[in-house]
Amino acid sequence: MMNPSEWFTEEAPGVASAFSLKVTKKLHEEQSPFQHLEIYETESFGNLMVIDGCTMVSTRDNFFYHEMISHPALYTHPDPKRVWIIGGGDCGTLKEVLKHPTVEKAVQIDIDERVTRLAEIYFPELCESNGDPRADLKFIDGIKWVKDAEPNSVDIILVDSTDPAGPAEGLFSEAFYRDCFNCLSENGMVVQQSESALFYMKLIGEMRGAMQAAGFPHLQTLFFPQCIYPSGWWSATIAGKQSLKQFRERDAANKPFDTNFYNVDIHKAALAQPEFFKKAFGG
Ligand code: SAM
Repeated sequence: MMNPSEWFTEEAPGVASAFSLKVTKKLHEEQSPFQHLEIYETESFGNLMVIDGCTMVSTRDNFFYHEMISHPALYTHPDPKRVWIIGGGDCGTLKEVLKHPTVEKAVQIDIDERVTRLAEIYFPELCESNGDPRADLKFIDGIKWVKDAEPNSVDIILVDSTDPAGPAEGLFSEAFYRDCFNCLSENGMVVQQSESALFYMKLIGEMRGAMQAAGFPHLQTLFFPQCIYPSGWWSATIAGKQSLKQFRERDAANKPFDTNFYNVDIHKAALAQPEFFKKAFGG
């Protein structure tokens, strides 16, 4: 929402709270076949992508999210070779995944090609690995992609989706997680962006319940900052076939690539569970 003094404001649903950024220019607006897309130039956060009125990516702070949805899982899996990103059309997660030398193939499956085409123009730094020979960009429904997949065809699935409404609603369902379980390899894991634990515990509880009902015995919710999302404090939940408590600490300490946020200490800190979260879900 834009108000007369040229601030972009997103009101977080149901919590009487909002986040605003001062806008210097509207760079683009369109209705794609799937969603309403807007790009703004802001005074202090660089460019901002908005989908259906919700902030998605800003130049300034996207690294928190993209690094934390990818590196903890990739350093928890013993040998991640095949990675799928469901959603993630801005390509920032794909770029982080391809930093891992173990990865042989990374497939990004976003329903909306327009998100990627706009990211190429307005967030070129997130798209700089799109030409990597290991990258494969597909523009189809991720729910169908996973449903049609063969058993043992992927090691890690990262669900970098919009909120659970519209085309992303089914990405938070037990049926989807069951399809993920069936196509993941022995040590496989699925990571779902899981919104704000301050604002949306009910959603997180339902999502964790759906992951368990789908067969995943191990869950780990990670916490990290993300200024432009509701409450400024975000989470990702890993559902694994094997324990998620240990990670390849030595490999993470010697990571052969640069990051802005992720490191071994951040990984450990992100595993710590707040008291209210333990009371709700144990652990
Ligand atoms: N990292 C940001 C965040 O979490 O807000 C941005 C995520 S990325 C832009 C979200 C993507 O999910 C969008 O590009 C949207 O097209 C895609 N998406 C939503 N539903 C989908 C589905 N069923 N299959 C594949 N992609 C989907």
